[in-house]
Amino acid sequence: MSNLHLSLEVFPPKKEEDFPNAHAVLDSLSKLNPEFISVTYGAGGSNSKKTVEIASYIQNTLNIPSVAHLTCVGNTKQDILNVVNELKKVNVSRILALRGDRPSYMTDEQFNAREFTYATDLVTFLKEKTDFTLFGGCYPEKHFEAPSMEEDLQHLKEKTDAGCGILISQLFFDNDFFYRFLEKAQKAGVKADFHAGIMPITTAKQLGTTVSLSGSSVPKKLADVIATYGDNPEDMRKAGIDFAISQILDLQAHGVTGIHLYSMNKPKVTAEIVAGIR
Ligand code: FAD
Repeated sequence: MSNLHLSLEVFPPKKEEDFPNAHAVLDSLSKLNPEFISVTYGAGGSNSKKTVEIASYIQNTLNIPSVAHLTCVGNTKQDILNVVNELKKVNVSRILALRGDRPSYMTDEQFNAREFTYATDLVTFLKEKTDFTLFGGCYPEKHFEAPSMEEDLQHLKEKTDAGCGILISQLFFDNDFFYRFLEKAQKAGVKADFHAGIMPITTAKQLGTTVSLSGSSVPKKLADVIATYGDNPEDMRKAGIDFAISQILDLQAHGVTGIHLYSMNKPKVTAEIVAGIR
């Protein structure tokens, strides 16, 4: 479909010696012509240099707009300014402003004294101090800490009103959650461009890890895929790709144009999905 707005997400390599391979992965992904590629940020900010380095490669070597994820829960204002300055130096001008989860090393005292309480505080700070384009996260099945979807949406509105006009969603497997979420967000007055987060599940094991990290519901259709193909890696890979393709085609049929693929740094799987939706 011509009105597809495709973006991809990658994570930086853990070790310095893995950078050449990460660059090769990005070279392959760049051939899919995404509108932007976002780069995750290690919990607590321990690996911010790697995020900056990969975001720079995407922006400057591949000439694709890059979005650097940035979490604030374990960072001071000065830490954030330091990362922002590193990003500026390498011409990266887009940030996905996140609160992040509480790092395990933070004591109660440190956590309670943190300088940024929510992502909205980071958005407000970055708006005041920088001219970066700001993205935010959103949760079609509600963020796990929010007492209700209504409260979550109220805070999402505060976040977008503070200055982040583009939202990338948590991954989901059941499109109905996303459709209901869009409707409620609109009613709540959230004004933003939405990108639906889609993660292909290509092994049975991956589903368990993904669900425990994201809390996303597993619809019967996906559970059936795992039950049928889970023991056969090649069939499971293909079935997982087909599931992601049909999920995206259904989103497109419902008028959703922003698709953010969690690439898991797997260019072949990502390319097969893109071939199936374009
Ligand atoms: P927030 O927007 O601050 O929301 C967190 C909770 O606080 C919600 O329940 C919200 O309703 C509530 N809340 C907000 N404002 C208020 C208020 N004023 N009063 C009371 N409650 C309030 N994590 C990483 O560590 N690295 C990454 O690279 C990363 N990438 C991500 C990419 C995407 C697209 C998404 C969706 C998430 C990503 N995460 C990442 C995970 C994210 O850090 C966690 O989900 C975190 O728990 C919430 O971050 P947030 O920015 O959505 O928080």
